[in-house]
Amino acid sequence: MIRIPSIRNEAGLTGDRLARELSLTRRDFLRDAAGLALGSALLGASPSLRAQAIRKKRKVVVVTFGGGARDQETFAPEGQENIPHLLTELAPQSSFYTHMMNQGILGHYVATASLATGVYETLNNFSVTPPEHPTVFEYFRKDLKRPASNTWVVAPSNGFNRIGESNSRLYGPGTGAGVILPKHLLNAATASGGHDYGHLLRDNYETLLDVAPAGGSEVELEQLDRILKLSVDDFMGHARTVSSPDELSMYIVKRLMREESPDLLWVTMHDIDIAHSGAYSLYVDAIRRTDRLCADLWKTIQSDPEYAGNTTLFVLPDFGRDSDTDAGGNGFQHHRTGGAASRTTWMMALGAGVREGTVYDRPVQSIDLVPTIGAIMGFSAKLSQGRPLMELT
Ligand SMILES: [Zn+2]
Repeated sequence: MIRIPSIRNEAGLTGDRLARELSLTRRDFLRDAAGLALGSALLGASPSLRAQAIRKKRKVVVVTFGGGARDQETFAPEGQENIPHLLTELAPQSSFYTHMMNQGILGHYVATASLATGVYETLNNFSVTPPEHPTVFEYFRKDLKRPASNTWVVAPSNGFNRIGESNSRLYGPGTGAGVILPKHLLNAATASGGHDYGHLLRDNYETLLDVAPAGGSEVELEQLDRILKLSVDDFMGHARTVSSPDELSMYIVKRLMREESPDLLWVTMHDIDIAHSGAYSLYVDAIRRTDRLCADLWKTIQSDPEYAGNTTLFVLPDFGRDSDTDAGGNGFQHHRTGGAASRTTWMMALGAGVREGTVYDRPVQSIDLVPTIGAIMGFSAKLSQGRPLMELT
């Protein structure tokens, strides 16, 4: 396991203590602003909630932010105006973990792959390779004998082509999730030129990535009609009305929910990572948009009879960003120091089986997500190195 380096900040706090302080102040912000109460790990989900949740077939939706946001721009008093939906609508209905550690590599593809396998993956972040360990999608489909149409990933296009299935010999090709990369689809649709979708097609905010040939389980443009009942013209027409790649992703997500009703759905957003450009206002705009899109998705879940009442929604950043005091960092812009602020993040769980309005401040890990989903849905994440979060199972 990769250990957090024991670094010190100006106040002389080590990485572990800084992480703890971040978690505790985040907990206090939530208690003050959203009225959450401190939960006991011994309580678990309430039996009535559990019974309610299993009456219908259980579904799980995961939303990750590729490129986390710091507390200064979110949960801290000076940032709360940027996340009105997360703070006042979603958090009070959630079980909120204030101390989630990511001890892996802080690149977006590799970190999302780690979230999806429950193992800190070590693949090259800037290559288009599948995760080494089985993904949550493979565990889900194999153990529960589900068809390919039952689990989907919608992700940005910077290298996420192969996130749907691993190269594990026990699982692998043909056993994972279909992957939809809306920007790749839009790129293919506009290949003939003559359209201006530049604001939606901007891809990687960090390093130029050679766009590799499609592989794995990525959906191609010609499949759009069959899977989403969406013509290329309608797709392009809708793209003209959205202002960001994440809005385009959310359009695809809603379409998937309507046409396929997948039981396991994974959405990775990426607008916030525009912070790498150094433009603080664009970073804050993206936080506000992400806040709105999360609430919009939660509303969609609650108003869709296939999802309402039997769905657990997880919302979490892949990791954080550098603090203003990290030596060698550049504040909000990057996540390159590996310091406590860039590793200490949070997760909220809402919906079926969740004890509402409860905050947990004990340290948990990013790799605990997959075994937790397994415990909720009834499959075993055998090779994951995380542990199920007992309060949710
Ligand atoms: Zn980034």
